[in-house]
Amino acid sequence: MNRGVLVVLSGPSGCGKDTILHHYLEGREEVFLSVSATTRSPRPGEIDGVSYFFLTEEQFREKIDHDGMLEYACYCGNYYGTPRDTVYEKLNAGIDVILEIEVQGALQVKKRCPEAVMIFVMPPSIKELRSRLVGRGTEDMETVEKRLLKAQEEMKAASQYDYIIVNDLVEQAAADLHAVLRSQRLKTENQKEFLNEVFHYDA
Ligand code: ADP
Ligand code: 5GP
Repeated sequence: MNRGVLVVLSGPSGCGKDTILHHYLEGREEVFLSVSATTRSPRPGEIDGVSYFFLTEEQFREKIDHDGMLEYACYCGNYYGTPRDTVYEKLNAGIDVILEIEVQGALQVKKRCPEAVMIFVMPPSIKELRSRLVGRGTEDMETVEKRLLKAQEEMKAASQYDYIIVNDLVEQAAADLHAVLRSQRLKTENQKEFLNEVFHYDA
């Protein structure tokens, strides 16, 4: 069995990562979207263990101390991290894994897993980013301003990623994500097991 492909998806808050993933994942069972841990408070409608694992700072630190995180970062005053074991279990079972994470954590993953495919999502403009963040209505204005400042800094890191997807029309962005993942699956290095099976087939 071929190992799954590890995909890292980043982009400034409000650019539409969740929306693209929602479109892309609809009806797709062969891809696993990693559930992160965070110390931020749940938004209305967010479910523990589904949207995030909501932890206290003490619980989060304990996870780090036991090497339970593949990566982690502090973002706008809260900790976010990827629980390590589930990611490796899925990849070893041949399932592609998507990590929707911010830039500092993404660069840690790139160091630890150089084979990861790095995708950066950009908004069509800063003006549109602001309007999406405000329109989402999940953060107060102070947090929106913090996230917009952070966005300018994060977008400078886009050149360290393998692909850039501009989220103008969400359907197009989801199709672009599909194209990147499909081409990655077709890479020779991701089909070694298949080649092995064909060559060693005892007719
Ligand atoms: P992120 O996950 O990157 O923080 P979201 O997916 O939550 O961003 O999107 C932020 C807001 O922008 C949401 O209200 C969403 O409905 C809206 N949005 C996302 N993509 C688009 C798009 N292509 N065109 C217009 N609005 C969008
Ligand atoms: P939000 O609070 O809007 O859900 O997420 C804020 C930022 O944290 C987003 O850029 C999101 O991609 C990022 N994020 C979510 N989970 C993780 C994670 O496990 N690790 C890291 N490094 N960032 C994460």
